[in-house]
Amino acid sequence: MPDSPSFSLPLPMVDLQTQYQRLRSEIDAGIAEVLNSSQYIGGPLVNAFAEDLAGYLDVEHVIPCGNGTDALQIALMALDLKPGDEVITTPFTFVATAEVIALLGLKPVFVDVDPHTFCLLPEQLEAALTDKSRCIIPVHLFGQAAPMEPLLDIAARHELYVVEDNAQALGADYRFADGQTAKLGTLGHVGCTSFFPSKNLGAYGDGGALFTADEGLAERLRMIVNHGMKRRYYHDLIGVNSRLDALQAAVLKAKLPHLDAFGESRQKAAARYDEGLAEVAAVQTPVRASYSTHVFHQYTLRVKQGRDALQKHLAKAGISSAIYYPVPLHLQEAYRVYGYTEGDFPMAEQLSREVLSLPMHTEMTPEMQAYIIDHIKSFFA
Ligand SMILES: *Cc1c(COP(=O)(O)O)cnc(C)c1O
Repeated sequence: MPDSPSFSLPLPMVDLQTQYQRLRSEIDAGIAEVLNSSQYIGGPLVNAFAEDLAGYLDVEHVIPCGNGTDALQIALMALDLKPGDEVITTPFTFVATAEVIALLGLKPVFVDVDPHTFCLLPEQLEAALTDKSRCIIPVHLFGQAAPMEPLLDIAARHELYVVEDNAQALGADYRFADGQTAKLGTLGHVGCTSFFPSKNLGAYGDGGALFTADEGLAERLRMIVNHGMKRRYYHDLIGVNSRLDALQAAVLKAKLPHLDAFGESRQKAAARYDEGLAEVAAVQTPVRASYSTHVFHQYTLRVKQGRDALQKHLAKAGISSAIYYPVPLHLQEAYRVYGYTEGDFPMAEQLSREVLSLPMHTEMTPEMQAYIIDHIKSFFA
């Protein structure tokens, strides 16, 4: 190990600064365009970004909005759901997924996850259906897909809506059994994403978007993001105020052409971690689903024993790491009203005790990763 590494410590989870310096001229030009136009809300840049993203995803409609949480809420508002209707999702996700269900007076129903992909298990989902089930929200966690083909099949048989939470896997592809592929977020009735700065396509502030191929739904979504109006000051639906501002759209429009290269950098970094950690028996490196590409929003280990001590050991060496997520949603204080208890979802609970995400971003170098890998190995040596 070199005495003075060719990078500075601490190593962060995400490095937005180096990426900005690399793309600076394109991003600054977009921002200058907005400042010169003085059109900060809506306008040509927001529309142009939405069109570019629709082209990239090959989806009919992209509706920008204020953030990923709003996108999920707006998606549910656009479906004809009644209070008490059940929306099925995973307990092993960021809270936003369940929060919007609860906020709208709907009932979050959790089902356990796959120990390899950390995503919803279709068999468990089918067992959780009742006559109040109306919607499924699969989460494409950490950068790869939930098993959409079986989930879409269940949804079709039981007339359920499918709203994809694609905040973490924008740019990843789903591969159907017949060999056809489609971008995640375009498979369900509505797809939702987030442009939070650390997401794979990150703005320099908040942002989000909704995707749909359904003309009628697209119209409702467009109305709901803008106070439920189609004609100015005539409010046909109850809506919200949720918009992507033009400065964020300029940043996103400049970064979108790089999204596939961002994914490749992340995949290369993931492959280096995989190789370096292959012989460390105490950690399980991420499993790739056969039906999805993986864009590594997170590179998440399962640490069978000593996860918290390993995290401290890494912190002492100036290596950031993070636990996504330390408490599954069914055991969170605010969600106790739904009556779940410890033991209800053993896999989600076990993952919460074992997961550890390592630094992962578009600017990782082999030297940084060798340093991280050496410190993981020295912990278990
Ligand atoms: C980030 C995230 C969200 C919320 O996005 P915001 O833009 O922060 O509101 C929702 N779901 C998942 C899985 C996320 O990772």
